[in-house]
Amino acid sequence: MQQVSTQNRLKAIATRIDAAARKAGRDPAGVRLVAVSKTFGAEEIVPVLESGQRVFGENRVQEAKGKWPALRERFPDIELHLIGPLQSNKAREAVALFDVIQTVDRPKIADAIATEIAKAGRAPRLFIQVNTGDEAQKAGVAPGEAEGLLAHCRARGLAVEGLMCIPPVDEDPAPHFAALARLAESLGLAKLSMGMSADFEVAIAGGATHVRVGSAIFGVRDHAAG
Ligand SMILES: *Cc1c(COP(=O)(O)O)cnc(C)c1O
Repeated sequence: MQQVSTQNRLKAIATRIDAAARKAGRDPAGVRLVAVSKTFGAEEIVPVLESGQRVFGENRVQEAKGKWPALRERFPDIELHLIGPLQSNKAREAVALFDVIQTVDRPKIADAIATEIAKAGRAPRLFIQVNTGDEAQKAGVAPGEAEGLLAHCRARGLAVEGLMCIPPVDEDPAPHFAALARLAESLGLAKLSMGMSADFEVAIAGGATHVRVGSAIFGVRDHAAG
């Protein structure tokens, strides 16, 4: 039962991604679904893997470390994205575990990642997180400082592929997605990680190349757990 409903939910999302891309005159193959598995355990993630999904997002390094190494042994071709804030003292573990780090947002964390990449001989692909709403409590570099941070990353030998944002919850996300797309274009970056369960179609219309979808695949999260 679980297997069937998981498969159906994934299929429904794939259909919606496809339709949103076509409506925007885009190739659906240009939109990646990142299945956000935070708070869910292996028993809930395995059916999604068995349904063919291979790209996943996690918010916390510790939590991801507790469940993904074992899953990767069973499914070696997974691609794991860090989509939550990263602290410098977790940079080593993040570089070892993740294929993509979407939340580079300050020079200090770029430096820590560069140091760990040099030591590990393993280089996750990187996105810069932009705080498009200029929210005091939210992670992400201010839009006006993104160019400087990108230059800093490049000076440290880091290859940045794109930008990521999480718009303010109480605002229309479309202008935030548009602002992120304009910023990426002005910086010559091709990838855009934006859109979640509630607004991924809007994000695709705005140019998203990666949509991060959690609850629409896994169901409602226990809020206290993040
Ligand atoms: C939890 C989370 C998501 C997924 O949110 P849903 O609304 O469950 O789809 C996407 N991006 C980030 C950064 C998250 O923390």
